[in-house]
Amino acid sequence: MEYLPLFFDLRGKTCLLVGGGSIALRKARLLQKAQANIKLVAPEVCDELKILLREHKASELLPRSYESGDLDQASLVIAATNNLVVNKQVSDDAKALNIPVNVVDNPDLCTVITPAIIDRSPLLIAVSSGGRAPVLARMVRAKIEALLPSSYGQLAELASRLREKVKVAIGGADQRRYFWESVFEGRASELALSGRVDDAEQHVLNELTKAAAADESEVQGEVYLVGGGPGDPDLLTFKALRLMQQADVVLYDRLVSDRVMELVRRDADRIYVGKKRSDHAVPQDNINQLLVDLAKQGKRVLRLKGGDPFIFGRGGEEIETLAENGIPFQVVPGITAASGCSAYAGIPLTHRDYAQSVRFITGHLKDDSTNIKWGELTEPSQTLVFYMSLNGLSTICQALIDHGRDPKTPAALVEKGTTQQQRVFTSDLANLHHKVIENDVRAPTLLIIGGVVDLHAKLNWFKP
Ligand code: SAH
Repeated sequence: MEYLPLFFDLRGKTCLLVGGGSIALRKARLLQKAQANIKLVAPEVCDELKILLREHKASELLPRSYESGDLDQASLVIAATNNLVVNKQVSDDAKALNIPVNVVDNPDLCTVITPAIIDRSPLLIAVSSGGRAPVLARMVRAKIEALLPSSYGQLAELASRLREKVKVAIGGADQRRYFWESVFEGRASELALSGRVDDAEQHVLNELTKAAAADESEVQGEVYLVGGGPGDPDLLTFKALRLMQQADVVLYDRLVSDRVMELVRRDADRIYVGKKRSDHAVPQDNINQLLVDLAKQGKRVLRLKGGDPFIFGRGGEEIETLAENGIPFQVVPGITAASGCSAYAGIPLTHRDYAQSVRFITGHLKDDSTNIKWGELTEPSQTLVFYMSLNGLSTICQALIDHGRDPKTPAALVEKGTTQQQRVFTSDLANLHHKVIENDVRAPTLLIIGGVVDLHAKLNWFKP
């Protein structure tokens, strides 16, 4: 380890900043956040920096070149000029006085370096490559940023407020650790992260009373109804990923891609409740009941669905049963197949020149008949998206033609959209089914109909 990471309390301390350009501005912002007194020395100072210093009361501007005496009383020195001679002078002077010094982009002249920061105050995460690969450090930061919801700070504040109380109520250090783990992984955390800090606090206090009484009494689970998107795991939401990481058990079906399943917590039990078109592996009622039973056992149950749970996903039915049984639940939307497939096929669902509206329709036909109101679907400026339509494809296209939609209307079938196996077949209403037969297309597929399909030729960007 070349550097020891420490967090520096600079509140009310003087920091000398040498330089007046955009790099100095960046450092000044950081010092302002850390509530330091900023003493800035530079012959020329950019306007933004002047404004910052004016607004930040604890600051002093010396509009001249750096002099060794400027280091007087400084707790930290940052050199941010583009003049190597000046930077070296500042570094030498500071080192002679044992004042921590940072010279921007020059690790050799530094005794301290500034990390990339993930700020969820009071929670702070600092990432450093020791000045060797700053771009990599910034990329790592971006990854961590994505992992930690912005409301993590509120959760840390909450923990800080209750820390003493918990200490008093639970004597054993281990027991206390278990308690905090359960807080940060459980419902209180969820409440805080979704902004319900007061409810979260109340929940922690209730849990604390229970834990203090060491009563192994009733535990209440929760169900997360989560949209897993159309296949590409990068299309998951932050919230989906977080809940996937903390579930005890996951119920999933065939549409959830393997790459998405890989992101579910390793230790979670996995229950396949897959439904193939012809063979309903687990009847819906059983799934609904299973969710209730598992939650009643105190489990955090992830119900992971392809796409969005509220679009042809029966998500509504499942949570209705939960609501009737008083089981807490959350719903996390996902990228529905229509959004995912259209984006990855370069087919905008609406476009000012082609389509003013879009309709999502189930193409699941029972006994080759359907209660679709075909007459409503003939308007040329309307894009139609049919889910579950591979088997009924020719029936659907023919019905549209029969009801007056132009046989030349462009139509596309997107197979396994957003995945590395994606294929897009374009044609028109009259001929699409020929292409599908020729190419041995497999489910899942999405059918998109309307003028917008012509844009595929130009906008087709995704090349798996
Ligand atoms: N809740 C899901 C839809 C479930 S219905 C959602 O919001 O996307 C199942 C249908 O979704 C499939 O028959 C198919 O038409 C469509 N679908 C889901 N994922 C798809 C994918 N990756 N590519 C193409 N179609 C997909």
